[in-house]
Amino acid sequence: MSALSIAIDNGVAVVTFDLPGEPVNKFSKAVIADFVAVFDRLERDPAVQAAVLISGKPDTFIAGADIDQFLEFTSAADATRESAEGHALMNRLEHGRVPWVAAINGACLGGGLEASLACAYRIVGDSPKTVLALPEVQLGLIPGAGGTQRLPRTVGLQVALDMILTGKNVRAKKALQTGLADEMAHPSILRDVAIRRAMELASGKIPRHRTRKQDAKGALLEGNPVGRAVVFRQAREMTMKKSRGHYPALLAALEAVAAGYSGSVADGFATEARLFGEMAFTPVSRQLIFLFYATTALKKDSGVSGDAPSPALIGKIAMLGTGFMGAGIAAVSAMQGVTVRFKDTKLAAVAKGLTAVRDVLHDRLRKKQVTRQQFEDQLSLVSGTVDYAGFGNVPLLIEAVFEDLAVKHAVLKEAEAVLPRGAIFATNTSTIPIHQIAAASRDPSRVIGMHFFSPVHKMPLLEVIVTPRTAPDAVATTVAFGRRLGKTVIVVNDAPGFYVNRILAPYINEAGKLLDEGARIEDIDRAMLDYGFPVGPVTLLDEVGIDIAGKSGAIMAAAFGDRLQPSATLGKVLAAGRLGRKGKKGFYLYDEKGKKGGVDESVYAVMPTGSTRAAVSASEIQERLSLAMVNEAVRCVEDGILRAPRDGDIGAVFGIGFPPFRGGPLRVVDTIGAAELVRRLEALNAKHPGRFEAAKLLREMAAGGKTFYPATGKPV
Ligand code: NAD
Repeated sequence: MSALSIAIDNGVAVVTFDLPGEPVNKFSKAVIADFVAVFDRLERDPAVQAAVLISGKPDTFIAGADIDQFLEFTSAADATRESAEGHALMNRLEHGRVPWVAAINGACLGGGLEASLACAYRIVGDSPKTVLALPEVQLGLIPGAGGTQRLPRTVGLQVALDMILTGKNVRAKKALQTGLADEMAHPSILRDVAIRRAMELASGKIPRHRTRKQDAKGALLEGNPVGRAVVFRQAREMTMKKSRGHYPALLAALEAVAAGYSGSVADGFATEARLFGEMAFTPVSRQLIFLFYATTALKKDSGVSGDAPSPALIGKIAMLGTGFMGAGIAAVSAMQGVTVRFKDTKLAAVAKGLTAVRDVLHDRLRKKQVTRQQFEDQLSLVSGTVDYAGFGNVPLLIEAVFEDLAVKHAVLKEAEAVLPRGAIFATNTSTIPIHQIAAASRDPSRVIGMHFFSPVHKMPLLEVIVTPRTAPDAVATTVAFGRRLGKTVIVVNDAPGFYVNRILAPYINEAGKLLDEGARIEDIDRAMLDYGFPVGPVTLLDEVGIDIAGKSGAIMAAAFGDRLQPSATLGKVLAAGRLGRKGKKGFYLYDEKGKKGGVDESVYAVMPTGSTRAAVSASEIQERLSLAMVNEAVRCVEDGILRAPRDGDIGAVFGIGFPPFRGGPLRVVDTIGAAELVRRLEALNAKHPGRFEAAKLLREMAAGGKTFYPATGKPV
C-alpha cells in the first residue's frame, strides 16, 4: 500500500501523505520510493501543472524520518549516502517540472520541514497543533535532507541558526513572520487555498523562485562575508559556552550552514551529507537516540507490570496544601482542563496559593502560548477552600502539606472522612516512605506517592512511588494522570529517597566531603558543569535549601548507614544559619534581590578545614561524584527500586539533569564496562573506605561480562 495518493483537481495534483497503520507520517525507504514513483508520474503527465503536498493525518504534516533507520546505518559513509539520496529527492521537489505547494497543518519536523523548504510555496494551518522545527541536534544529528542549506536561504542566517542549533518549535504565526511560511490559512480551507496557489504558481502569477526580502539591519549583518563572520563567531562562542563542547552536532551544524555561504551550492549540500554521516556515528547521538526511545517507550508504559487495569479518567482533583508545590501542581492541572479544589488551613495561604497559580498561568498568556480566553478558563478551574467542602466527589487527592509525618497522617484521616471510597490519596512527600503515610489510611491500597520536582511547571519528571499494597488500578490511574499533566513518569518502589533523591544523596555527600577535605567550592561546581550537569552540586545545595538537604541527608544516613553519611560541612554550614538562596546566605553570595554572585569566602570559616583551601583536580572531583551516583543507581536496580534500567536513566536525566549525552547513570555502566567500573570503584574505596564499595550487581555483571542494555538495535 502506498503512503501517497493523488487526486487531480484543475490541473493540480493533490498528493496526500497518509502512512498506513501509523499515527504519524514519517520518511522511510519505502516512503521515499513512493515519492519517487509520484515524481516520475507527474513528470510524465502533461495534464498536471502544479502539485500540493498535504497530510492525511489530523495533527501531523510530517514528523520527520523514521528514527529506526538511523540505527541501521553500518558506517558514516552509509549515512552520508542516505543523506545524498535525501538531497536528490528534495531536489526533485524544488526543481522538477511542476512547482509544489506544501499545505502544512500539525507537526512539520525534521525531514518534513526540509521537504516543505524545497517546495515553491508554504502555507501553514492556523492551529496550535502547527509547529515547525529541525530537531535533529536533539538527537545528536544535523539536518540531512538540505535543512542546513535551504533554511538560511529562506529565513536568513540568524533565524536559521537559532532553529537549527536549538531544534525549537516555531508556531504558525511566527513562521509567517519569519518568512518560513508564505501564508497562513484556517485548516478547514487549507487544501483549497493550496490548490489556488498551486494554480497561480503554474500560471506564473506567483514566481516559482522568489528572493527573500531582508531589512537593512539583517542585510548588513548577513549580506556580506564580514557580517556573516560575526554572526558565525558569536554563534560558535555561545554554543561552546552552553554545551561545553559535549555536543559535536552543534559545531557540525554550524560548519554545514557556513559551507552553504562559502562555496558552491553543491559544496554546501556535500558538506551537510558528510557531516550528517559523521554525526550519525558519534557516541553522543547513540545516547540521545537511546533517550528518545526510552521516553517514547515510557509514554506507552501503564506503570503496571503484566495485565494493566484501564486507568480512570480524572477530570477533577483535590489539592491539599496551597504552598510552593501545591500551587505548581494546581497550575499544571488547570492547564490540562482539570478542575482543582485547592485547600489550605488559612484563607491567607489559599489567597497566596491562588496568586501563585495565576502567575504560572499568566506567564503562558504573556508568552502567547494561550489566548486570554484560555487563560481565564484555566484560572476559573481552580477554587480555594479552607474546609473539605467539594471533596465528596473527587477521585484523586494530591497532598503537598508540610513535610511532617504527623501532619500528613492528620490530613489523610481528615480527607478520608469526606473523600468517596476508592479515591486515590497521592502524596508529594520528598522524603517520607509512602508505606509510613499509608499506615494511617483506612485503605492503604489507595495511597501512592506522586513526587513532583520544582518548579512543577518546568520540570519534566514525575516519580510515582508504589508500596506493595498499592492497587494496580491506582497505579495505572496515577500514571495516566501524570502523563496528562505532560510529565515523563517513572514508577518506582517505596524505599528511603525513592529513586531520584537516593542517587542524589551520595553525589551531594561526596561534594560535601570534598569541602570537608579543603576543596574549593568553585572547583567542585566547575568540574561537574564540565562533566555535563546543568548546575554544580554546591549551587544545587543553595538552590534546594541547605536545611532541606540536611533533613534529607539525615534520613538517608539513618536508612543506609555510613555509606550515605552527610558531610560535616553540611551540618556546620546549616548550624551557622545559612539556608542557601532563600535566606540569601549560603555557599554563594546573594544580593538584596536574591541574584547570585561569586563564592561567599566567609563560609569556609565554618568548614572543618577552615579557610585553607587547596586545588583538587577536575578529574578527581568528577570521578568521585559521578561514580558515587552511578554505583547507587546500580544498587537501585539491585534492590528492585527500579522496574527497568531505562527508568533509572530517564529519572536521572529528567529529574537531576544527568548529562543527556552520557545517556544516564546506567548507560555509563555500559559505556565504561562493569569490570572497569568495579576496578575504579575499588581504587576509590581504598582511599575513602565504605563509600565506594561496588554494588553486588555490578560485580556480578563484571564477572559475567554483562551490560544493562543490548549492544545493537533498539536500545530499550
Ligand atoms: P510549603 O511550605 O510551601 O507549603 C506547604 C503548605 O501546606 C503551606 O501552605 C501550609 O499552610 C499547608 N498546610 C500545612 N498543614 C496543612 C493542613 N493541615 N491542611 C492543609 N494545608 C496545610 O511547602 P512545599 O515546598 O510546597 O512542600 C510541600 C510538600 O512537597 C512537602 O511534603 C515537601 O517535602 C514536598 N516537596 C517539596 C519540593 C520542593 O522543592 N519544595 C519538591 C518535592 C516535594
